[in-house]
Amino acid sequence: MSNQDDKLKDIIGHAKEYGFVFPSSEIYDGLSATYDYGQLGAELKNNIKNYWWKAMVHMHENIVGLDAAIFMAPQTWKASGHVDAFNDPLIDNKDSKKRYRADVLIEEHIEKIRTKINKEVAKGKKRFGDDFNEEEFRATNPNVLRRAAEISKIEDRMKTGLENEDLADIKALIEELGISCPISGSKNWTDVKQFNLMFSTELGSVSGEAATIYLRPETAQGIFVNYLNVQKSGRMKIPFGIAQIGKAFRNEIVARQFIFRMREFEQMEMQFFVRPGEEMKWYEYWKEYRLKWHKALGLGEDLHRFHDHIKLAHYANAAADIEFNFPMGFKELEGIHSRTDFDLKQHEEHSGKKLRYFDPEINESYIPYVVETSIGLDRMFLAVLSASYKKETLDDGSERTVLAIPPALAPYKVAVMPLTKKDGLPDKAREIINSLKIDFNCQYDEKDSIGKRYRRQDAIGTPYSVTVDHQTLEDQTVTIRDRDTMFQERVAISDLHKIIGDKVSMRSLFNQSEEVTAE
Ligand code: ATP
Repeated sequence: MSNQDDKLKDIIGHAKEYGFVFPSSEIYDGLSATYDYGQLGAELKNNIKNYWWKAMVHMHENIVGLDAAIFMAPQTWKASGHVDAFNDPLIDNKDSKKRYRADVLIEEHIEKIRTKINKEVAKGKKRFGDDFNEEEFRATNPNVLRRAAEISKIEDRMKTGLENEDLADIKALIEELGISCPISGSKNWTDVKQFNLMFSTELGSVSGEAATIYLRPETAQGIFVNYLNVQKSGRMKIPFGIAQIGKAFRNEIVARQFIFRMREFEQMEMQFFVRPGEEMKWYEYWKEYRLKWHKALGLGEDLHRFHDHIKLAHYANAAADIEFNFPMGFKELEGIHSRTDFDLKQHEEHSGKKLRYFDPEINESYIPYVVETSIGLDRMFLAVLSASYKKETLDDGSERTVLAIPPALAPYKVAVMPLTKKDGLPDKAREIINSLKIDFNCQYDEKDSIGKRYRRQDAIGTPYSVTVDHQTLEDQTVTIRDRDTMFQERVAISDLHKIIGDKVSMRSLFNQSEEVTAE
């Protein structure tokens, strides 16, 4: 097992032990790729949502929020293209009975070839030492060139096969590459079939009258169909945005890797409506703004990177992902897409309703173009959890596990602990909590030694622990301990509100993410 697998396993174990994430309906052995957020997970999730909502809605005068229903008129999904085209190519191994995404099997094969190239490069580096010029080596070494050519041949063939829906050729490619099932090791594959990712159910109780409706596979369409309602009732002027946080459902063929890929998940999306021709300016703006939003959390350097899409979806004229270095490597965390007027145009055609905007500045009526930012809340949760999870060896040789969650996102902001359960100390601790709890989520803890209690707070990411002792009763001071530095100092109870407030306020995050302009 690799280090990466170990780290993910550790995080999953930690998340369960401390009440962040549980397997769903665990007493019945769980349901695959479905998870429940526990008492601390729900808090962390809410704080992430809050950070996103504040940044996107409250900090932008021209963005408003929405909360649309999960069920929508079935025509919505015909218009959006999801009924006909929201498919993944699936293939089964006849021996292991395991199901795979055909494109993912091929991509994994390509990744293996890439690893071989990297090994070749590493060998070159070792041989030539300081004189090594990687770029030149990659451009001239015959082994590297042969392998790179092999990769582009496979990529081209897969792309053509998928675009032309030539599923027989996708299967032929898998066979020619000699790809075997990781479980059974056999190459005994079924044909490749298209599999629609939408969940459907029936609406209506009278038989014969039931209509098939879908659980939304993205929140975006709830925004598109309400675009005119919001524009008119909110007197919005282009450019303007509509933001939404909500559940989405996809019947993913292979749902693995904890909360990274689930069948029920949550999205935070914002559709920004702009004048046609101005979309690239806004696309660049949102790319930059969203990256700053991530970086402001200070989760670590070099954890984010852009990945520009080469193959664009039929509706997009530009698209990029913000990838995050998860325990299993760099993977998509957020997408920024320039979606043209595709969606609104489709809804105009299918509904017969005009979805135009009259732009008084240029005296013209048009269908706005859309730039969207779309992030998975659960993936963001995993990003925060995995970057925050640390095992440290202390000066005295002991170990601690600490979740260095950005204080603004931490489930509890402060733990208040009486040194002993006697002498009125618990009452004093509760009195302090009562004075803080309206602004900060506080935890009361009186069980075990102070050292053990500190460790517990470290493990759940509480930025501050406050200890109440006998001196407190005399001079109204307490000891406050910082989670990250473990530094302790004596402060007046009356200063606690300010000390904690300064540390956990979202204000510090915004100083860094606000200086983006669209020009
Ligand atoms: P992927 O390529 O990983 O399947 P996608 O490109 O289909 O993702 P989008 O349709 O762009 O994803 O959705 C926007 C965001 O929603 C993604 O960046 C991701 O954070 C999140 N997301 C998508 N599918 C899932 C899922 N099954 N589980 C959790 N989050 C998801």
